[in-house]
Amino acid sequence: MMFADKITVVTGAGGGIGRAIARRFAGEGAILVLADANAKSVAETAAMLPAGTTYTIVEGNLCDKAFCQSLIDQAVERYGRIDILINNAGIITRGTILETTDEDWALTLDVNLSAVFYTCRSAIRHMTAQQSGAIVNVASTWGIYAGPGHPAYIMSKAAVASLTKCLARDHARDGIRVNAVCPNEVNTPMLRTGFAKRGFDPDKAVEQLNETVPLGRIAEPEDIADCIAFLASDQARYVAGATLEVSGAKAVY
Ligand code: NAD
Repeated sequence: MMFADKITVVTGAGGGIGRAIARRFAGEGAILVLADANAKSVAETAAMLPAGTTYTIVEGNLCDKAFCQSLIDQAVERYGRIDILINNAGIITRGTILETTDEDWALTLDVNLSAVFYTCRSAIRHMTAQQSGAIVNVASTWGIYAGPGHPAYIMSKAAVASLTKCLARDHARDGIRVNAVCPNEVNTPMLRTGFAKRGFDPDKAVEQLNETVPLGRIAEPEDIADCIAFLASDQARYVAGATLEVSGAKAVY
């Protein structure tokens, strides 16, 4: 049991990758704090956990700074500590700068970047006192190599990658490892609803995308959850400040 009794906070736990993370960590004995704005989907995640898993659901909006801070504090109040924080929640904002409204820009920064800043700051306070902890942020390959037509999203993910490296350097001596996972396309609601909104059949679009990946398919959420589990585990004890690209060798530059 890689995470036996490790207090693990997962944001976006109702989404595609978040659900896979929750199941992966629960399978290794973690005690989970599952956060999401969508009460229904996070409840569905909880219902899919192995029998006997200890978990708490914390429903709220990560755009609210007070919620970000209280999420971490609630985990510590309830379970006495926080061992692992996984900042997975995110939104994708499509369109060039000319198509990006002020509201799109503010929301993207709030969810994808500021929430990561606030949850990390709260968690690092507790982890510094404990002199141990691991944080994994979910960025994107687009945060490393900019792609076309999504400047707000890409900038937010590049900032998360940069923040990850900053925090890793500043807090390694406190016994805290901070890393990021950078997926390319993953078969989740985020990807599929994007296709549906643009009038494509999601199954057919995924089939076509599969052909563009040297490993033969886009990622499933479990592929990403396994990498996150590695980075959060003691097996990655000497890995800090990494931005692990999980792309199936698909070149995105
Ligand atoms: P998803 O849409 O399936 O899940 C995202 C979850 O975040 C949802 O459950 C949603 O309710 C939650 N969320 C969104 N805004 C929130 C808010 N303001 N407050 C609280 N919760 C909120 O997406 P996913 O594909 O599982 O993405 C997870 C992470 O992976 C994101 O950070 C995303 O940017 C990143 N990512 C995804 C892909 C992909 O192709 N799917 C590729 C690279 C990176």
